[in-house]
Amino acid sequence: MKTVLKYYRKYWYLIIISLAFLAGEAICELQLPSYMSGLLEKGVGTSDMAVIWSYGWKMILLSVTACVCAVTVGFLSSIIGSKISRDLRFDVFSQVMNFAGEEYNKFSVSSLITRSTNDITQIQMLTIISLRLIMFAPIMGVGGSIMAVEYSGGISSLAWVIAVAILIIIVLIVIALTIVQPKFARMQKQIDRVNQIAGDELNGMMVIRAFNTQKYEEEKFDKANAELTRTSLFTSRMMALLMPLMTVVMNAIMLTIVWIFAGYVEDFSQIANMVAFMQYALQVIMSFMVISMIFLVLPRARVSINRISEVLNTPISIKNAEGKEQPTGERFKGDVKFEDVSYGYGGGALAVENISFEAKSGQVTALIGSTGSGKSTVVSLLPRLMDVTSGKITIDGIDIRDINIKDLRNNIGFVPQKNMLFSGDIASNVGYGLENATAQDLQKAVDIAQASEFVNSGEKGFEKEIAQGGSNVSGGQKQRLAIARAISKKAPIYVFDDSFSALDFKTDAKLRQALAEEMGDACVIIVAQRVGTIKNADRIIVLDDGKIVGEGKHKDLLKTCKTYLDIAKSQLSEEELDL
Ligand code: ADP
Ligand code: MG
Repeated sequence: MKTVLKYYRKYWYLIIISLAFLAGEAICELQLPSYMSGLLEKGVGTSDMAVIWSYGWKMILLSVTACVCAVTVGFLSSIIGSKISRDLRFDVFSQVMNFAGEEYNKFSVSSLITRSTNDITQIQMLTIISLRLIMFAPIMGVGGSIMAVEYSGGISSLAWVIAVAILIIIVLIVIALTIVQPKFARMQKQIDRVNQIAGDELNGMMVIRAFNTQKYEEEKFDKANAELTRTSLFTSRMMALLMPLMTVVMNAIMLTIVWIFAGYVEDFSQIANMVAFMQYALQVIMSFMVISMIFLVLPRARVSINRISEVLNTPISIKNAEGKEQPTGERFKGDVKFEDVSYGYGGGALAVENISFEAKSGQVTALIGSTGSGKSTVVSLLPRLMDVTSGKITIDGIDIRDINIKDLRNNIGFVPQKNMLFSGDIASNVGYGLENATAQDLQKAVDIAQASEFVNSGEKGFEKEIAQGGSNVSGGQKQRLAIARAISKKAPIYVFDDSFSALDFKTDAKLRQALAEEMGDACVIIVAQRVGTIKNADRIIVLDDGKIVGEGKHKDLLKTCKTYLDIAKSQLSEEELDL
């Protein structure tokens, strides 16, 4: 609650102004019935046209003022609501951008999307409704009561009528609240679920078609959709029922008032009193209805407020060390060292254990091992996509946790195993995140990555469109563009996580040769499945089940490391093995 309230502080002046206009509107509305009564008693009662006109003009003026105030308040509250939801969306988004894997897993992507759209809209609606009502209802309630007493013509039973009406309304609202409230929390979760299934199905469209599982997926979606519909129908029906009930209560009150007055009417002034009293009674009851309306909107918004606060209050696990908040633009030489590093996902069982090795600048260090042996985990620790559970990683002797994260990542050209291109064109993808990359830089990166043929053969060259997620280029092309993207960073450290697997042998070889020529004194870390890819590496590290089982050059490993020999045997011919 506090987290979100903070956002209102920024717009306090707009809030004050709209409250002032609200007060103005309320005061005008409070005056109207008394003028009406005066008009009836002194004007219509005596048929004096001059009096009728003078009351008439005042009433018109009051109505117009009230109307102008109401419009202004509507205008201001929409502005406040939209601005607050914009600020919230921005902060939620930047918070999520800083999330590490662990935090993502806590929420799930679909829930994060619902939270930054639907939940924030709920808060926006609450803002608009409550701004309109918070000030207005109390003034009308208190002011209306005072005025009503004045016009009650000395009939004491009238006060009881209003009290009973208010009681009935409160009871109705409390009943509705207890029934509806628990449904709201469930509803937001069901929206999450619908978003999740829709997202899964849209992303996995190809798989769904290939496996002919449309029907199954449709049923899955249908079920989640039906559940959401049921909950939202239920809450809407409850709300819909409430309105006519309220109207019945109101009309019953009006009838009672007329009935009670009927016994007392002796002259025209009593009729004038009755008209004014009825209107004030209406205003008092209305103000209570309106206040209770807030209690109906509040529970749903409170669920949303909690969901937003949860995101905003989640501590970021990967942070800059104290005193290192500002990037310095530091360039490293690129000597990477892992010292007894272990890591377990989500603090659970260790995925990699006691990893110690060095990757020096100017050298190629290779990691090889079967799938699931922990290669990707090891290299993801270097740019701090996750933080080590124990041990430490240093660059040029400095613990990476003591380097500004921006500096650290600027020093690493990273090609993740799961490649991702962004919608845009080739140039924006290859020069991703670079402010002043020249056309030559991009061309060079593309040349090294062996993608120039495919880039330049296209009609549009670097302007060729890339669809969302890179779905309009082949796996190998995507990989090469991702490699070019890393190379164009001109970093002292490069990490290629299984980046050559979708390339044919010839391209693989050419790419490695170009890398060797161009990388100079960079520190290159290559994760590979194919022995051929890393045969010439300066140092090969063999991983098995999260542990290092061998380290050395290709020739030595064949003799000393059984795991490596097995991998090599399964891929190379007898002559190539050269034992
Ligand atoms: P490799 O890259 O060698 O194929 P990974 O480093 O991807 O292997 O995976 C090593 C181990 O860590 C596997 O057993 C895998 O199940 C586990 N793992 C990988 N990613 C995650 C994750 N995001 N959450 C939990 N466990 C994971
Ligand atoms: Mg991997």
